Amino acid sequence: MSSNDTALMEKIVSLCKRRGFVFPASEIYGGISNTYDYGPLGVELLRRVKNAWWNAMVLERSDIVGLDSAIIQNPKTWETSGHVSGFSDPMVDCKKCKARFRADKLDDSRCPERSSKKPTECGGELTEPRAFNLMFKTNIGAAESSSSVAYLRPETAQGIFLNFQNVLNSTRIKPPFGIAQIGKSFRNEITPGNFVFRTREFEQAEMEFFVPPAENDRWYEHWKTERFNWYVGLGIDPAKLRQREHDKDELAHYSTGTNDIEYLYPFGWGELEGVACRTDFDLKRHSEASGVDLRFFDPETKERYFPYVIEPAAGVNRAALTLLIDAFEEQDVEGEVRTVLHFHPQVAPITVGVFPLVKKEGMPEKAAEIERVLRRAHFSTFYDEKAAIGRRYRRQDEIGTPFCVTIDGDTMSQDIVTVRHRDSMKQDKVAVKELEAFLRDAIGSWKRA
Ligand code: ATP
Repeated sequence: MSSNDTALMEKIVSLCKRRGFVFPASEIYGGISNTYDYGPLGVELLRRVKNAWWNAMVLERSDIVGLDSAIIQNPKTWETSGHVSGFSDPMVDCKKCKARFRADKLDDSRCPERSSKKPTECGGELTEPRAFNLMFKTNIGAAESSSSVAYLRPETAQGIFLNFQNVLNSTRIKPPFGIAQIGKSFRNEITPGNFVFRTREFEQAEMEFFVPPAENDRWYEHWKTERFNWYVGLGIDPAKLRQREHDKDELAHYSTGTNDIEYLYPFGWGELEGVACRTDFDLKRHSEASGVDLRFFDPETKERYFPYVIEPAAGVNRAALTLLIDAFEEQDVEGEVRTVLHFHPQVAPITVGVFPLVKKEGMPEKAAEIERVLRRAHFSTFYDEKAAIGRRYRRQDEIGTPFCVTIDGDTMSQDIVTVRHRDSMKQDKVAVKELEAFLRDAIGSWKRA
């Protein structure tokens, strides 16, 4: 990372803490490494990412249904899926400082004692790589015997495979169709880092799309394109997005093809989402191990078969981080720095700031009334009467609020407010009775500058 890029990440981390997007977890006890809590604005950002995903994947389609499966499943799940034996990263230890690194990510790692050096450059000797399983183990019940060992799920996908027959039986849906799920996953990552990019606890948004095997390639292309376009639709700069097909030796044991959607982070290109062909691997394995037939029976052709699976797997926290980084800009406005997050209005934690120009002449009361009306119409609003109006605008720019409505003398005499746009800083005069429609239109027609 160049010093500019490091500085950019530091600015984003600092803004996140200052304005209540992301806090270091357990901070009063000195923190816990690479674990974060989401503050009032962060939780709204995550919620909007999840809503946008759920809308695109479930609500706007007739061929995908939702699911919410348990985090702790029968441990046989993970033996069968291959996670107990194979979900590991190669790990090396430094014999000098005892730090641990991922053997395949040494170039991205730094010596904890000499932070300008990579582990291979600092003079410390590394051990031979050995496999380190990423699953968190826990125990069920009071006894700590081996029979009670269970795992926190490292992906949400397996809960979907376990419920494949339940969903078929309860919905009468048939391939090609999908099951979508959003939820927490846990991985004991060896080298987490880059803020919330890689943490040990994170939220995934995964969808397993079950298709007749002959339709695999068509649906793989479909989902690669759909998912790429979803990020562009959220306002992310397409010039900083790319698709990367995995080499054969990179593919997971179950996959015949995987395409990563990558973003150019300040620390380099990184995976934002993976779209994988999982074939019939999971359903077949779970059928064999459980003795329950998980094939689909097609009543028309009288054929019984294991569908193939295309899986778009996104990370909610990584998507939120990407939106923050991509939206961040420092502009020079009349000799002063204006910090602005150019969020798409669909994901901005607050959509409309409402301000009385001054704290007198009935303006606060009128502003509070307008804010209440907008809030009841399901806009996410923020009322502020403190400080000079320019400063209030800047505070909203910094958290990405796309519109500010100011109640001034014209409001009191003619029922007209001023709407100020975050990106252009232009202002429009709008009649109060047309405000809601005006804002809806501005949200709908928003384009990345
Ligand atoms: P990576 O190569 O970055 O470890 P992966 O290929 O193991 O990721 P997948 O198993 O495909 O990741 O998971 C799907 C998505 O879940 C990733 O694209 C990412 O957005 C998110 N994700 C995976 N691991 C983490 C993590 N440790 N912290 C935050 N998000 C994660």
